[in-house]
Amino acid sequence: MSAQLIHGKPLADSILDRLRAEIEQEGLRPGLAVVLVGDDPASAVYVRNKKRACERAAIASFSHELPASTTQGELLALIARLNADPAVHGILVQSPLPALIDFEAVIEAIDPRKDVDGFHPYNLGRLAAKLPTLRACTPYGVMRMLEHAGIDPSGRDAVVVGASTIVGRPMALELLLARATVTVCHSRTRDLASKVAGADIVVAAVGKPGFVKGEWIKPGATVIDVGINRGADGKLCGDVEFDVASQRAAWITPVPGGVGPMTIAMLMQNTVQAARAARR
Ligand code: NAD
Repeated sequence: MSAQLIHGKPLADSILDRLRAEIEQEGLRPGLAVVLVGDDPASAVYVRNKKRACERAAIASFSHELPASTTQGELLALIARLNADPAVHGILVQSPLPALIDFEAVIEAIDPRKDVDGFHPYNLGRLAAKLPTLRACTPYGVMRMLEHAGIDPSGRDAVVVGASTIVGRPMALELLLARATVTVCHSRTRDLASKVAGADIVVAAVGKPGFVKGEWIKPGATVIDVGINRGADGKLCGDVEFDVASQRAAWITPVPGGVGPMTIAMLMQNTVQAARAARR
């Protein structure tokens, strides 16, 4: 392997420890409500990791675990209560939600000041308008990893593979804000290989194991793998063919231990930011 790894875990841990110190110094009592609906096993793991991060950063977490039979009306009623609760500064609704609940409607019901995932159209719009406030956690975490590795996107060609509201789109907006020239690829994109081959920075967020082929990567490129998939061998893997890509790239993120921990650290940072804003 010739690429250097950009590890997310140590960076995320240092951010959580710094937040804890800041919270104590400021006498702040940030609170995060964590809402889990149903019994999706992967979601249960994510929620557990988020609660652990709350403990490390000294953020209070309020757990709301609801059965899969929960109706949209019941969930919206809970969101209304959390919006009104002064001890709650951030509201996290773990996706996926049961099929009968409209995820967008639930996100839109969250007070944008408590939207610590950064998914509300208000917060996405602020990012698009170059006025970011609460920023989508995964793209924000990726930007922090680039910064930490000393990679400045300004003037670079960046390709984002995936255009979802929670990762691909805000990722493209973050890179644009950092003055990269951004191409967003999605399921209708033609000749993906040549687009990726032209990129100085590739961000993969598709959700298909090994989908981005290592031979597509331009030598010396930076490769950020957002994907979290269960491979045929049962192990966690990303969207990028790591073995080959890491021979060509200059920098690459591992899966696990790459972007995942940074997403959670940014969730904590957003919660602290929301708590500070509520105190003003
Ligand atoms: P999604 O299913 O909502 O979106 C996938 C995107 O990939 C879509 O925009 C789709 O157009 C695109 N796509 C599908 N097939 C394609 C093709 N053939 N060519 C090009 N693009 C194609 O998924 P998501 O929620 O954005 O998540 C993507 C991955 O990132 C998943 O593996 C998810 O688990 C992972 N994820 C990781 C983190 C983290 O913290 N590391 C956070 C969120 C999501």
